[in-house]
Amino acid sequence: MVQFTALKRLTSAGAGATLPTSTNDGAGARSVSRRRRVANSFINIRLTILCGIVTILVLRGTIGLNNFSSNSPSLDQNQKLVEETNRIIAQIRYDDNDNDDDDNFKYPQNSSYSLGPKINNWNSTRKTWLHGNPRFPSYINGKPRVLLVTGSPPSPCDNSIGDYYLLKSIKNKIDYCRIHNIEIVYNMAHFDKKLSGYWSKLPLIRKLMISHPEIEWIWWMDSDAMFTDMVFEIPLSKYNEKNLIIHGYPELLNEKSWVALNTGSFLLRNCQWSLDLLDSWAPMGPKGKIRDDAGKILSANLKGRPNFEADDQSALIYMLILRNNKWMEKVFVENSYYLHGYWAGLVDRYEEMIQKYHPGFGDERWPFVTHFVGCKPCGSYGDYPVEKCLKSMERAFNFADNQVLKLYGFKHRGLSSPNVKRIRNETFRPLEFVNGFDIRHSTLFRF
Ligand code: UDP
Ligand code: MN
Repeated sequence: MVQFTALKRLTSAGAGATLPTSTNDGAGARSVSRRRRVANSFINIRLTILCGIVTILVLRGTIGLNNFSSNSPSLDQNQKLVEETNRIIAQIRYDDNDNDDDDNFKYPQNSSYSLGPKINNWNSTRKTWLHGNPRFPSYINGKPRVLLVTGSPPSPCDNSIGDYYLLKSIKNKIDYCRIHNIEIVYNMAHFDKKLSGYWSKLPLIRKLMISHPEIEWIWWMDSDAMFTDMVFEIPLSKYNEKNLIIHGYPELLNEKSWVALNTGSFLLRNCQWSLDLLDSWAPMGPKGKIRDDAGKILSANLKGRPNFEADDQSALIYMLILRNNKWMEKVFVENSYYLHGYWAGLVDRYEEMIQKYHPGFGDERWPFVTHFVGCKPCGSYGDYPVEKCLKSMERAFNFADNQVLKLYGFKHRGLSSPNVKRIRNETFRPLEFVNGFDIRHSTLFRF
């Protein structure tokens, strides 16, 4: 702007300097003065054009006239951008799908499928390791160390809005973990090509257990599940004698229902029992004929299961029912709070919850986790209308985010709005109030 004003001043000075002067010397003088006037006008015009050009050049440099055009790209430019993006995404997908098996680091495999070399003495070797590495304790201040694990496919989602909700979902988990001092891992790699999709959590959990012996509990959470109670904490001391904590209903398990348990959010203790469980759980997972055939067995044996390829949830339920005596003693089927909460019954009740209750309950009054089962926001074929799913995910995110933003003095304009508004005035004495707003100072907080 400074340059712009200076230029304007230069222009008027130039015009003033070339103004014709009046003379008294008759016709000749008039014609001379006319010629001079014409010449002067000509110079004026040239100067004005020159100044105009300089003005435009300076404007381009300072405020960027280019931006005007990119703010409203032509159809042509838009088309180019879409084509370019699609080309890049196609290339990423192509690289992801290449089936070259260049994996030189294999373990000898026998006929049946396995997640890796059989580990037999994990409890004692882990104990020895912990003893030799006191800087990596598995309990801190008497509390077991927890690692929250989540992830998404290696390639971009089928629809870019899917990636937007993956981002919101991981933001939601980072917030919860930061508030509650929980470590977090986000994985986008398939550690075992055959165990793709929902099965990819199995090799991942195993790998994390043996690579992080300091972690006591591995907590898997789906990418389509969000924390909706930012205050609630899992009462871990309740599970001292258990190795698997999973949301479900024992009655449904007795009935062999395929929705008796939900594998969208569960905790596994880092121990030999869990490694054995993963080994027994995985064999129905390999993509292709094995997974397809296993799907038929699962549908034939589990109540209400439609016919489709084997999924990790049905396989776990089937395994626990089939060998009840072997596993169930160490499994805690939890339903006193929503370690997993089915979204369809919850998202329309958020306003009512806000009116009647407050965060910290974790149950139907204020659900700990809202899980968008069957929505497949990153894929193409969900069981529910995309619009209903996305609107509901937005509501869940904002419902949770309001609990985070409270500390900073903001809240969303509505449960459907990504925009925020102020909820209190700024103060020059912030520390007098901070404890009242920080979730970590809540009376419900057990940390
Ligand atoms: N997932 C992953 N990598 C993949 C595909 C899926 O890590 O390539 C994870 C992702 O976190 C996803 C979870 O597996 O949320 C289970 O799948 P989904 O949520 O689609 O199943 P649903 O809960 O609908 O049965
Ligand atoms: Mn899910």
